[in-house]
Amino acid sequence: MILKYKDLKVSIFFRNRKTLKLEIVDKNHIRVTAPEKTSMNHIFKFIDKNEKWIYEKFLLKRYIKSISQENTKLLFFGEEFSVKIITNEKERVYIKDKTIIVNGKDKNQERIKFLLKEWYRYHTKRYVETRINDFSHKLKLFPGHIRIKDVKTRWGSCSSKGNLNFNLRLAMAPRRVIDYVIIHEMCHLVHLNHSKEFWSLVGKILPDYKEYEKQLKEIETYMII
Ligand SMILES: [Zn+2]
Repeated sequence: MILKYKDLKVSIFFRNRKTLKLEIVDKNHIRVTAPEKTSMNHIFKFIDKNEKWIYEKFLLKRYIKSISQENTKLLFFGEEFSVKIITNEKERVYIKDKTIIVNGKDKNQERIKFLLKEWYRYHTKRYVETRINDFSHKLKLFPGHIRIKDVKTRWGSCSSKGNLNFNLRLAMAPRRVIDYVIIHEMCHLVHLNHSKEFWSLVGKILPDYKEYEKQLKEIETYMII
């Protein structure tokens, strides 16, 4: 069965299985495999719940196509850069003339993506650690471990043990937006939820936080690595 849902083409297969499965077929085309008697309503809810994941996968496909054309744009601390891939035995990533240059042993997409991610991870770690150090003293809030992770669905998180995790792609954002993410997570050291009290604490430190939330959403379209 094929139907339209929002701007997606959805192929639905009913099979003898226990859980719902989601796959990307093509641009704007997904496949859902569902247990035999699943209702349409349930399937649509499942798609809704995974919407973000679906669009991330689409973006990834666009990346693979465009990087071969070498016209991909990436953000670095809020500034837009073109990306150039060069085959070179010595692998490294650096900036030259408004261009992010990736030296890869070959032009293998996965490898290039990996090199770029490690480059972002390095810059994110350096910036985040310095800022947490500054903010800790100002706010009198001291987190446990700081980890920089390869996650696609969130910019940061705070564990119940007070450890903070940050997305390695944070270095794409302007510094003031990264500061917001850091302060947001540090406020979770006080309130481990998104209660009114939590937001009022964030607002006390950063009255413009809503603007930063908006900017983060915009940056998500660049999250193609
Ligand atoms: Zn939060």
